[in-house]
Amino acid sequence: METKQKIIIVGGGFAGLQFARHLDPKYFEAILIDQVNHHQFQPLFYQVASARIEPSSISFPFRKIFQHKDHVQIRLAKVQEVDAEKKIVKTTIGDFNYDILVLATGCVTNYFGLKLPESGVYSLKTTYEAIQIRNNIIRNFENIVAKGADAPEELFNIVIVGAGPTGVEMAGAFAEMKKNILPKDYPRINYSKVRIILVEGSKTTLTAMSTTAQKASLKFLRQLGVEVRLGIFVKEFENNIVTLSDGEQLKTKNLIWTGGIKGNLIGGLEKGTIERNNRIVVDRFNKIEGYDDIYAIGDIALMKTLKYPNGHPQVANVAINQGKMLAKNLKRVQTGKTQEEYEYEDRGSMATVGKFKAVVDLPYLKFKGLVAWFAWMFLHLMLILSVRNRLIIFINWVWSFFTNDTSLRLILSEEKKNDSSVPGKIESTINKPKLHLIHS
Ligand SMILES: Cc1cc2nc3c(=O)[nH]c(=O)nc-3n(C[C@H](O)[C@H](O)[C@H](O)COP(=O)(O)OP(=O)(O)OC[C@H]3O[C@@H](n4cnc5c(N)ncnc54)[C@H](O)[C@@H]3O)c2cc1C
Repeated sequence: METKQKIIIVGGGFAGLQFARHLDPKYFEAILIDQVNHHQFQPLFYQVASARIEPSSISFPFRKIFQHKDHVQIRLAKVQEVDAEKKIVKTTIGDFNYDILVLATGCVTNYFGLKLPESGVYSLKTTYEAIQIRNNIIRNFENIVAKGADAPEELFNIVIVGAGPTGVEMAGAFAEMKKNILPKDYPRINYSKVRIILVEGSKTTLTAMSTTAQKASLKFLRQLGVEVRLGIFVKEFENNIVTLSDGEQLKTKNLIWTGGIKGNLIGGLEKGTIERNNRIVVDRFNKIEGYDDIYAIGDIALMKTLKYPNGHPQVANVAINQGKMLAKNLKRVQTGKTQEEYEYEDRGSMATVGKFKAVVDLPYLKFKGLVAWFAWMFLHLMLILSVRNRLIIFINWVWSFFTNDTSLRLILSEEKKNDSSVPGKIESTINKPKLHLIHS
């Protein structure tokens, strides 16, 4: 019997997970290494941050997913470096050797070189960060009540940077929370003081979508009372004051950064090309230039094709299908068959702003409003991994549809004693700018 090829997969996001699931156990055995012990469904992070769904509904433990799949082992560790000569990856729990290495490490938040303080800035790249946002917002409202008439302005303002789908969805969710939920929990607060401000450097919201979607999303946001600043950048954030490029200053303890991403690189890759925003250039089979046995898939990979000369969009569909395709191609190599080139088939995009307020761009049809909102919910439900979690989310959504309420407003962290200015904030060990594992 032939010996099986040993594959190390770094990252169990959309790309790494699908790759591992589609590996043929006859030819391969794999170790999936991830710094968290669960797959995270990023599109619904904003619903965790706005206390609509529980984190467990969109988190799937790897060991559960791969129960009864002996050819895929799981290790909880952070991969630090690759030694391509020795065919080893170095991790926080030791070294692992490989025949084939697949990098699926996704992206981290891109602050575009802006120096930001440790506290008071939140990004949304992990479930943990979504919970931090939820903790912080709810604790701020507790503080507003506690301080009464003396509550400072920075507690009232929620500033979101970046009006891509995540920023728009988050702004809409907080606006609905302000309108429907918080007044029931905190009836004594003066809600005219609570502001949700969305700051975007481009001239439109949802720049990657159609003009119809851009106009509709802006209208929906304004209907919900979100203050949208377009064509404006954040210049500075210091002492709880955001300074914008037009000179405006906003006091806030809730600065949420959804303004950009960059590839989450692993150290030690000497060959290959790293291009704009830290993406690794790969060929049509996801192999990294200059290596025979190292591949990159998903957000971290930059595959240039005739149709997409600047690379594919960094979306779940690309990651999922590159993962599947690579698993099939590696088997094709083993069985002497010709590999298939990957190409992205754009089936459309969508974003939701609030109840009955969503936008959908399909290749030949654009629509908005109620039908778009149902389409958005249906599609996202279908993408959730397990039937049980799908049901839980569905019940939560139906409940909040009829009651305009949720019951998930838990603060799940201790108040940090040495930093009363940022109630409940605990520092993330993942994806913080100063801790990035970037070796570009
Ligand atoms: C808030 C948000 C909303 C989004 N909404 C949508 C949407 O509506 N539709 C859509 O199509 N796309 C959406 N996206 C984009 C989509 O989630 C990504 O394109 C997709 O997750 C990319 O998959 P990936 O496998 O490449 O990376 P990821 O899914 O990011 O997975 C990377 C994995 O690698 C692990 N990892 C990273 N570094 C290391 C290391 N050094 N050691 C060990 N493990 C490591 C991480 O823990 C993670 O599990 C959204 C993204 C975000 C952040």
